Amino acid sequence: MSSPLLNELIDALRCLPGVGAKTAQRMAFHVLERDRAGASRLADRLAAAVERIGNCTRCRTFSEDAICATCASPQRDASLLCVVETPVDQLAVEQATGYRGRYFVLLGRLSPLDGMGPKELGIDLLAARLAENEVRELIIATNPTVEGEATAHLLSQVARAANVRATRLAHGVPLGGELEFIDRGTLAHAFGGRQLIEN
Ligand code: ZN
Repeated sequence: MSSPLLNELIDALRCLPGVGAKTAQRMAFHVLERDRAGASRLADRLAAAVERIGNCTRCRTFSEDAICATCASPQRDASLLCVVETPVDQLAVEQATGYRGRYFVLLGRLSPLDGMGPKELGIDLLAARLAENEVRELIIATNPTVEGEATAHLLSQVARAANVRATRLAHGVPLGGELEFIDRGTLAHAFGGRQLIEN
């Protein structure tokens, strides 16, 4: 059996997290043998998502519109701005806590070796946001990893330059942990127990 298309499909599936050569092979054979309709739907939805989901021009989270629903909602408290590394971290905070403020999504973390600096994290956009004088508290919810801590330090400097109070998630978030994988109770507690960063 030889099919270049099949080989290319297996290779393409490996872009998914946690999918190695063996799993990719199993997936490819599975859809061809048993679920071609499901595979077509997946291909269609993947193409639409990649084509139509962009980033909010204000907070940088995923959005099909220029301004996302959270940024546009008058129900959200504009004096609170929670900074997270990724859209999935935003989702974790949203689902675990009763937070009613707004967000800013870095789409990464400070990591000079990977080419992630202040520019890539949208720090200029964040600084411009703080200069609007609407935000009273910058809640730093970067992950408690080495890079997340370095990012938190940078964010606290940005807050200080704008004369905005900065707080950091404190209790219960395990060192080296990622918000996405922390249980809701722990994250809710950490969020509620955030502490003022002394500059
Ligand atoms: Zn937004």
